[in-house]
Amino acid sequence: MNTVTCPPDIPAFSSVCILGLNIHSVDMTAALEAIDYFVRRGTPHHVITADASMLVMAQDDPDLRRIIQNAALVTPDSAGVLWAARRCGRPLRERVSGVEIVENLCALSPERGYRIYFLGAEPGVAQEAARRMQHRYPGARIVGARHGYFAPEEEADVVADIRDSGADIVCVAMGIPRQEKWIDAHRAQLGASVLIGVGGTLDVLSGQVRRAPLWMQRARLEWLWRLCANPRKIRKVMLLPRFVRLVLCATSGRRRSA
Ligand code: UDP
Repeated sequence: MNTVTCPPDIPAFSSVCILGLNIHSVDMTAALEAIDYFVRRGTPHHVITADASMLVMAQDDPDLRRIIQNAALVTPDSAGVLWAARRCGRPLRERVSGVEIVENLCALSPERGYRIYFLGAEPGVAQEAARRMQHRYPGARIVGARHGYFAPEEEADVVADIRDSGADIVCVAMGIPRQEKWIDAHRAQLGASVLIGVGGTLDVLSGQVRRAPLWMQRARLEWLWRLCANPRKIRKVMLLPRFVRLVLCATSGRRRSA
């Protein structure tokens, strides 16, 4: 296990290396503390919510790999990642998902003054997610919302809109790996301190997509629920057997010699 050098005013946390990539051993409380620290620092920090499909994609995508390695915080965002960490003998505390991080940040926004921007999903979805969050958490400052289907020639306009909004935290929901690459390419121009890739979060917060029932989440069957809701997810689900194979391969030697 690697110990991550942490800024002095947030608790030190460690990480576990899965398929060559470090996942930080944080629970939700620690992740929110780290994000709060990043906001107060004022310089751009990339936060990644890593699931098994991302770790597999990064095996064949050096750019994605570099981005994950350079992120300020990488949270474990799937049952597969938690399983792999246990196989490595380094269990992680809990799943820290994008949807729960974003909802918590909205809940904290009135008290901490976070200014949050939603970028991504189909037209209308980010706005509806913003409306619901402001209704659920009165005083939450959602300073902008925009869909994620813009053309390359609209890019400068999207960047300017985020910068002019004065957002501290930008939640980018455009799917893996597009959102990670977009954040990496634009982080210096957005004027925000926290840039976080959150996949299908805005679909959930807007009520477009329901999260799996708790029993399915507990039985680690959320992927099946998502697949039924959106059969296009098959490409992502197809990466899971490779994830299992790679992890078993990487950990079986270690287990034998332990
Ligand atoms: N999306 C987007 N722009 C694109 C492609 C996708 O805004 O060019 C959105 C899509 O509408 C959905 C989200 O990105 O809201 C991807 O959600 P998914 O659950 O598939 O994310 P992942 O599983 O990759 O984290």
